[in-house]
Amino acid sequence: MSGLAGKRALVLGGSRGIGAAIVRRLAADGATVAFTYAGSAAAAEALARETGSTAAQTDSADRDAVIARVRDSGPLDILVVNAGVAVLGDAREIAPDDVDRLIDVNVRQPYHAAVEAAKQMPNGGRIIVIGSVNGDRMPFAGGAAYALSKSALQGMARGLARDFGPQEITVNIVQPGPVDTDMNPADGPMKDVMHSFMAIKRHGRPEEIAGMVAYLAGPEAGYITGAMHTIDGGFGA
Ligand code: NDP
Repeated sequence: MSGLAGKRALVLGGSRGIGAAIVRRLAADGATVAFTYAGSAAAAEALARETGSTAAQTDSADRDAVIARVRDSGPLDILVVNAGVAVLGDAREIAPDDVDRLIDVNVRQPYHAAVEAAKQMPNGGRIIVIGSVNGDRMPFAGGAAYALSKSALQGMARGLARDFGPQEITVNIVQPGPVDTDMNPADGPMKDVMHSFMAIKRHGRPEEIAGMVAYLAGPEAGYITGAMHTIDGGFGA
C-alpha cells in the first residue's frame, strides 16, 4: 500500500501497544515515520529497525520536551498523539501528583503538540489524537481522572479544528474501547466487566485502531475534522 507515500509522520508514544501498531501501519502505507518513547528503549529500537522508522526518547509528561520534539521534527503532514497513561482507583485514594501527571500526558501533551505541529504543517495536514470511549462513557468506578482527561480532548479537537480549518488541517480524536495491550490485557482482571458492556464481547486489536488512524491520515479523509471516532465493539452503544 502507498496511500501515504511522501508523507512525513510523527507518532508520540509509539514503542508499544496501539502506538506501535500505528507506526507499523503508517510505515506500511508509505509514510516516513518518526516516533517517540519514554522507557521502552529496546522495544523502540526493534520497531525502528523493523519498520525503517526513527525513534527518539521524549517524555510526554514534559511539556517543553514535547514542544521541542515536534518543532525539531520539521514540517509534518501527520501528527499522531498516542502516548497516554491510566490511573485507576478510588478518587479519594489516588495521590494528587499521579492525577496531575496523567493530565500532563493525556491533556497537556496533545494540546501543545497539536498547536506546535500546526505552526509548520502544510495545508491539508492531519492531527489525530488517541482518546477513549471513556471520554463519552465511564460505566465503572475508579476512572474519573482518566475519563476527565479523555473528554477534555473532545473540546480541544472541536476548537482546534476551527483554528486550523482555513489551512484544511484536520483535527480528530480516535476513541477506542478495550484494546489488548499492556495497559489493558485481554485476559486482565477487568475483562468480564468490560465485555459485559459490549456488543462485540472481546478486546480490540491494536491493528484495528491503527486502521482507523490510517484512514483519517489518508487522502479520503480531508473533509473530516473536529470529530470523535469511536471504535469500541459497542462499549458505548
Ligand atoms: P500502553 O501502556 O500499552 O503503551 C503506551 C505507549 O505510550 C508506550 O509506547 C509508551 O512508551 C508510551 N508512553 C506512555 N507514557 C509516555 C510518556 N510519558 N512519554 C512518552 N511515551 C509514553 O498503552 P496502549 O497502547 O493501550 O494505549 C495507547 C493510547 O490508547 C493511550 O492514549 C490510551 O489512553 C489509549 N486507549 C487505550 C485503550 C486500551 O484499552 N488499551 C482504550 C482506549 C484508549 P514507553 O513504553 O516507552 O514508556
